[in-house]
Amino acid sequence: METSTETPIFDERRDQIHRTGETPFAIACNRDSLAGAVSQRACVFCGARVVLYPIADALHLVHGPIGCAAYTWDIRGALSSGPELHRLSFSTDLQEKDVIFGGEKKLHLALTELIDRHKPKAAFVYSTCIVGIIGDDLGAVCRRVAEEKGVPVLPVASEGFKGNKREGYYAACKAMFDLTGTGDTAGIPKLSINILGDFNLAGEIWIVREYFKRMGVTVVANVTGDGRVDDLRRSHGASLNVVQCSGATIELAKLMQEAYGIPFSRVSYFGIEDMAEALYSVARFFEKDDPEIMERTKTLVREEFAVMYPQLTQYRRDLEGKKAAIYVGGAFKAFSLVKAFRHLGMKTVLVGSQTGTEEDYRELAAVTDPGTIIVDDSNPLELSAFLQEKEVDIFVGGVKERPIAHKLGVGFCDHNHERKEALEGFVGMVNFAREVHASVMSPVWRFTPRRIQIASSGSQS
Ligand code: SF4
Repeated sequence: METSTETPIFDERRDQIHRTGETPFAIACNRDSLAGAVSQRACVFCGARVVLYPIADALHLVHGPIGCAAYTWDIRGALSSGPELHRLSFSTDLQEKDVIFGGEKKLHLALTELIDRHKPKAAFVYSTCIVGIIGDDLGAVCRRVAEEKGVPVLPVASEGFKGNKREGYYAACKAMFDLTGTGDTAGIPKLSINILGDFNLAGEIWIVREYFKRMGVTVVANVTGDGRVDDLRRSHGASLNVVQCSGATIELAKLMQEAYGIPFSRVSYFGIEDMAEALYSVARFFEKDDPEIMERTKTLVREEFAVMYPQLTQYRRDLEGKKAAIYVGGAFKAFSLVKAFRHLGMKTVLVGSQTGTEEDYRELAAVTDPGTIIVDDSNPLELSAFLQEKEVDIFVGGVKERPIAHKLGVGFCDHNHERKEALEGFVGMVNFAREVHASVMSPVWRFTPRRIQIASSGSQS
């Protein structure tokens, strides 16, 4: 039964919502969030922080009030196979006096002390809102400390107020780009890639690296999950940049293409077809150098599929016909999720993202069923109303979407920073199916207020 909930949408946001098939495709996106609409987006600084944070042997110093650092402390839970310096959160803790007289001295002192104590391979220094207002010269302090200490010190121009999360991604890419081209590329083989846009949540980059290893491809740098400064410095020696996620690291790939002539391909490691296509695209790229790589890749996919398929079939039996909603940071991940739900016999009725482009949404409109709501830069009020209108069984999102689902009595699957289950790769598809099944089929939802309301109104009609 469809409820007749009136969806509260601000007039200024109506053109950022599209319903597949109801009107010719049109959606406004890639613009500043509407003031007062309480966007799900984070600030520029947070965008930069999430991208750079998994570089495990770098020092990450937040120049600003303590709150900016506290709010992004260990934000992705990105795993490291070695050093764990990234998991510590450092801040210059700017106070009123520093705002009046300037915080450069304090920054110099903090940087010097932290570099002496932790001996990092490089340091990233993040600007926050207040630094943009008082005008501390981050670049000058970073240059001075780099000379004094003999390690790269990179300013990240991420003043929180100067745009949306996307600008933060760009600031992070710019800082990483300054590191590339400074290391020795000797010994890097022809069949080599950099993995961009994977943050090693729950060890996912290790799964993907293992696939590439079985194909005979060397990974030079992880950007940035389980990342290392020295790998980044020699990453310009790789033959191909393989980029996941539409927003976070694409600018680095573009900068590297311009500077070093390294081509890039966009992939997704989520779901069956997209994971397989990610491997096949790399195999196709190297086929002229290694004619047997495609055969090895096909064997790998066949072997993984044989293990995965019987398990998916079991979950599909219960999940057939259930409804899913998706709200993620970058729209690229949403394509894979729509396909993954289809494999489980489920229908996607709502899909949106914080930073999608018109091209992304056009593609979503093409792969979703009539009536599916496509939304750009949504907010809790809209999302809540859409979830109720569509009577979804599971909501896939991140830390800010979780309470919306829980308050409405809807199953939830964390597909963002906080997840502890690997969802990438073929094994990740099975984990995803298991998690969706456990959540959707849980008997607890029968006792939540929304379900009780729907059940009782259904029995009256
Ligand atoms: S940078 Fe600005 S918007 Fe971002 S957390 Fe700090 S104060 Fe808040």
